[in-house]
Amino acid sequence: MIDSHCHLNFESIRNNFVTIIDNAKKSNITSILSINTEPDQFAEHYNLIKDYNSIYLSYGLHPEHVTNTKLISKDLISQYSKIDKVIGIGETGLDFYHSTKYKKEQYKVFEEHIEASIDYQKTNNLRVVFHCFTGSTKLKNFCLDKNYFLSLSGIITFKNANELRDIIKDVPISSILIETDSPFLSPVPLRGKLNEPSNVKFTANYLSDFFQIPLSKIVKNTDDNFYNLFTKAIKYNEIYK
Ligand SMILES: [Zn+2]
Repeated sequence: MIDSHCHLNFESIRNNFVTIIDNAKKSNITSILSINTEPDQFAEHYNLIKDYNSIYLSYGLHPEHVTNTKLISKDLISQYSKIDKVIGIGETGLDFYHSTKYKKEQYKVFEEHIEASIDYQKTNNLRVVFHCFTGSTKLKNFCLDKNYFLSLSGIITFKNANELRDIIKDVPISSILIETDSPFLSPVPLRGKLNEPSNVKFTANYLSDFFQIPLSKIVKNTDDNFYNLFTKAIKYNEIYK
């Protein structure tokens, strides 16, 4: 079972790092992808995880942090994506939730990530994941048409997520990844508490019930999808140092 998207370098996790990784191991989490959202914090993030065999990083600048002076180039992303531990690019996109002030810059930064991905994957048919999917039916269909992955978080377990459940009910398991987005979005029954990678099991269990597919098959499929998407990730049976 893999947590395909979390933020291990965020303070609340970093401060309990050894315990949290131990919890993940005990819950049979075999790999974790920790998402770097801030290039200035990459070195520290890298040092935190570098000694663990199957903890990986992505490299990117989150749109929320983009300003007219905080930008990123395709070349810089390409350079960092050569590092062994860096298996993906992002997270990226457009985020106007808090402000539209740097709209133009956000578009530019998003394009730089896409172009770096095209260079990295050496194809225009990009392998893409829509992390923490909470989109519309239209967006779901777009993802399925393009063979993009949908990553489901603890949100799927929330009482008020009926609309999301309805939208994803016909998504084939071959298109699904699972994630925690920790330290955010703790699943039921831990809502309101600090989230951590071991809790991805609640989402996996939920999906097993929801799709009426055995848990072992949910785990096997979402693991396979992860390695098909992030081809640089080496497969291990457990996390160790
Ligand atoms: Zn995130």
